[in-house]
Amino acid sequence: MKEIPKSHPRYESLMTRKKISDAMKKGFVHETGLIAHGRGEAFDYLIGEKTTAFADEAERVSAAALLCAEKPVISVNGNVVALVSKECVSLSKIIPARIEVNLFHRTEKRIKKLMKELEKDGAKNVLGLKGNTNIPSLDHNRSLCDHEGIFSADVVLVPLEDGDRCQALKNMGKTVIAIDLNPLSRTARSASITIVDNVIRALLGIEKWARLLKNEKKDDLRRLVESWDNKKMLGDVCGFISKKLNSLF
Ligand code: ATP
Repeated sequence: MKEIPKSHPRYESLMTRKKISDAMKKGFVHETGLIAHGRGEAFDYLIGEKTTAFADEAERVSAAALLCAEKPVISVNGNVVALVSKECVSLSKIIPARIEVNLFHRTEKRIKKLMKELEKDGAKNVLGLKGNTNIPSLDHNRSLCDHEGIFSADVVLVPLEDGDRCQALKNMGKTVIAIDLNPLSRTARSASITIVDNVIRALLGIEKWARLLKNEKKDDLRRLVESWDNKKMLGDVCGFISKKLNSLF
C-alpha cells in the first residue's frame, strides 16, 4: 500500500484504518473488528470527529468512578490494543487498575498476542488467559473471565463492549463504563456511564481527568458519580447530532 500523504484531508482517519488492518494481519484483531470499526467511524462523522462537551463530562465522571473504585479493571479487546495499547497501560498506572484481555471471539493464541503487545507497552501482570470463571447468563465462551479481574471488579472500563456482556456485568452490580461512538447501541444504553467518543480520544480524556482529580476527596468524587444521569446524556448527544444534521443543508 502506498504511503498516505499527510496533506490528505482524511489523513488521521486513514492512518487509523491502516492500524486496524495491520493489526488484523498480525492476528490481534478479529475480522469482524474491522466492521465494528466502520460502524464507529460513521458515528464519529456524525459527532464531528471531536470530543463533545458531553463526552468530556462523561470522561470526567469516569475518571472519578475509576479513582473511587476498590478493584477497577480495564477490559481490552483486539481493536482496543490495536488503537490505544499505550494509553490503556498509562491509565492503568495512574488509577491504578488491572488490565484484562477479554475477547468476544476468544482464542488462547490471540489472548497471548494481545498480552504480549500490552507488556511491550509497559503493562505488568495482564490478566485474561485463565478464564477461570463465568459472567452469569452469557453463553460459555463469551462469559469467560478472570476471577481476580473482571469477575470481582467493582468498576469495569469496557472500551468497545457488546451489549449483552455490558448488561451482564451491570446485572452483577458493577459500575460499567463503556466507550462507544454509537449512542443508540445496547452497550451505550445499558452502561452506567457511556462515553460517546472515539476510543483514541476517550482514553486520553479519562487520563487527563484522572490526573486532575487524583487528589480530590473520595466523597466528592463519589458524589460526582452518583449524580451522573446517563440516559439524559444519551438524549443530549442524540439532540446534538440531530441539530447538527438539520443545520447542514
Ligand atoms: P450493541 O451490541 O452494543 O448494540 P453492536 O452490536 O453494534 O452494539 P459491536 O459490533 O459489538 O456492537 O461493537 C461495535 C461498537 O463499537 C459500535 O457501536 C461502534 O460504534 C463502536 N466503535 C467501533 N470503533 C470505535 C472506536 N474507535 N471508538 C469508539 N467506539 C467505537
